[in-house]
Amino acid sequence: MVEAKRKQKILIADDSEMNRSILADMLEGEYEIMEVENGVQAVAAIEKYGVEISLLLLDIVMPEMDGFSVLMVMNEHKWIEDLPVIMISAENSPAYIDRAYEMGATDFIVRPFNEMVVRRRVVNTILLYAKQKKLMGMVADQIYEKEKSSNMMIDILSHIVEFRNGESGWHVRHVHTLTELLLEHLIRKTDQYNISQKDISIISMASALHDVGKIAIDEKILNKPGRFTDEEFEIMKTHSAIGGDLLHDLPLYQDEPLLKCAYEICRWHHERYDGRGYPDGLKGDEIPISAQIVALADVYDALTSERCYKKAFPHETAVQMILDGKCGAFNPLLLECLADIADQLPTELHQEEILEEANMRSFHNAAQEILHHAELTASERTLQLLEKEREKYSFFAAMSKEIQFEYNASPSILTLTPWSAQKLSANEIIAEPRRNDSVEEILGLENWELLSEKLRKTSRENPVITHDCKINYQGEQRWSRIVAHAMWTSEEPHEYQGAIGKVIDIHDTRLKLDVLEQLATHDRMTGLLNHASAREQIIGRMAQKPDRSYALVIFDLDHFKMANDTYGHIFGDEVLQHTAEKLRQSIRGVDIAARVGGDEFLVFLEYTEDLDPIIERIFHALTGRFEDFDISVSMGVAMTELVGTDYETLFHCADQALYTVKRAGRGNYRFYDNTMNKMLSAISPIDGGKS
Ligand code: GH3
Ligand code: MG
Repeated sequence: MVEAKRKQKILIADDSEMNRSILADMLEGEYEIMEVENGVQAVAAIEKYGVEISLLLLDIVMPEMDGFSVLMVMNEHKWIEDLPVIMISAENSPAYIDRAYEMGATDFIVRPFNEMVVRRRVVNTILLYAKQKKLMGMVADQIYEKEKSSNMMIDILSHIVEFRNGESGWHVRHVHTLTELLLEHLIRKTDQYNISQKDISIISMASALHDVGKIAIDEKILNKPGRFTDEEFEIMKTHSAIGGDLLHDLPLYQDEPLLKCAYEICRWHHERYDGRGYPDGLKGDEIPISAQIVALADVYDALTSERCYKKAFPHETAVQMILDGKCGAFNPLLLECLADIADQLPTELHQEEILEEANMRSFHNAAQEILHHAELTASERTLQLLEKEREKYSFFAAMSKEIQFEYNASPSILTLTPWSAQKLSANEIIAEPRRNDSVEEILGLENWELLSEKLRKTSRENPVITHDCKINYQGEQRWSRIVAHAMWTSEEPHEYQGAIGKVIDIHDTRLKLDVLEQLATHDRMTGLLNHASAREQIIGRMAQKPDRSYALVIFDLDHFKMANDTYGHIFGDEVLQHTAEKLRQSIRGVDIAARVGGDEFLVFLEYTEDLDPIIERIFHALTGRFEDFDISVSMGVAMTELVGTDYETLFHCADQALYTVKRAGRGNYRFYDNTMNKMLSAISPIDGGKS
């Protein structure tokens, strides 16, 4: 019985019944048509029928939810990758069309349309997607699902080494299998080495790299048919240390167990249990068990395979030679394991060859299929290339353990790599980031705006910017540097399209810098600013708002030497710290307070009302008893209203006023006035008291 071929489904989303029925009439014969009246219904239908739908014909202007919003939702859920969309609209402005394509629409048809055109485009789109899906599925099934990508990379790398060595191509595979079999048997015999199933898989995988160091050995030596001279043998022996160094010097993955294990194997797979191996002469269980096992597997496979310098020994002979100690010294426990499983080895290895052969063939076929697909159009090929690039990119992005993002300016969509999204507890796709709660939470909208502004101000020639801010990693605020590369269109006038970038953790460096800055700008003993940085801040303040009223206050402790002389220097320090604390308490946060040096301090403040009570208050706050010492200060005040905003003059005048107080008997404050210079030069002592 012939089963009727099921028709493919097309979903039409349009609010006009007439438009829907025109399209439905045209396509009904070949396809099963489903109709919805607005975006909300369209999304619901896609959710319900998923991959059963082969194509979506989407109107733009619709009630409840328009066509662009449908595309947005499809992007968020990645449906757009599986379901092709043709936009059909009377809107024909380039802005609309561009936006539709940017958001992933496959095609755009302007109403009124020609029936033939619509039919042709519908058929083409459905076919193209089906083909693409088939190809991608094939590649995914045959390569990615069977082989994890890491496994494959190791395979490729070790095969390169192997082919260079003139080995069969099976050596790495065999060592892998033998390692696995020996380990499985070892853990059945003893738990002495504390090996888990996970360790077995890591050690077996890492075994593939045991000879990577040979990459550095001259091919003439590697493939020499006869015996090595002593000198050649010495060179050959370096491969284990070189392999170890190669892995040890890799900048990445140093914490990965696989890499650590591969290092052990590379470096020590030529050590001998009796301590007579190389490169380090390790003895017994000083040699990691991983390296001991791979050494045994390596020797067995070398004996049973043909090499440029020897014929293959039969299995039984090889096992006997090893057990008799003719091919090196091994851990007796491992020799027992070898003896125990010896019988099953030839079958296991042979079976593997058959299995792998099939694998290789299907791999080969898949590649052929892709390469020789004659009907592939240029755009399909581009799509495939892009898909490959994307896959490569996401692989490296995932490996890098960095927060990486992509930003598309119009429509405004921020995309995070899966790893980054997880790290930040955010969605991978964030539409309208400037209105998004998680963006607000992660870095604050203010930073988002600053970042956007910096990016928009770049040019095609200088597109890279950095922005330092705190990033919230699931509740932990860390100083981070965002490095981003703005994307501009290549045609003139260049238009800003968005950016790609990553986030670098600079928390520790930043904190260290903060400490250094604190040390450079503050007085260590009192924690107040030092004079140099206070001066800088004061000058800045006056330059920024020159028309305000400011006062500079300088004061010095009276008879402070006495505190030192009577109670000791440490007590003197405590008096200074106490005074600094009193000073801090008596001023406002915006005022600038500093230790000028010794027992001399300054305060800079802006005032809008009467200055006198403010100074009076500070003066009294500083005066008082500290333990057995009476603290008294002499204080001079200079106002910018009188002497102008030049810092040096201001300081000099406050100092003059202070000096006047000291001369007049201390324990008081005075405001600078123009008579002071004269008064200071007069011979008669000056009467105390405030001005
Ligand atoms: P005057 O009333 O004229 O200001 O007399 P004075 O004793 O306070 O003397 P002056 O201000 O000229 O000298 C300040 C003294 O403060 C000099 C120095 O021995 C002492 N001194 C300076 N820096 C420190 C410090 O960091 N710790 C301590 N304990 N003493 C300091
Ligand atoms: Mg003093």
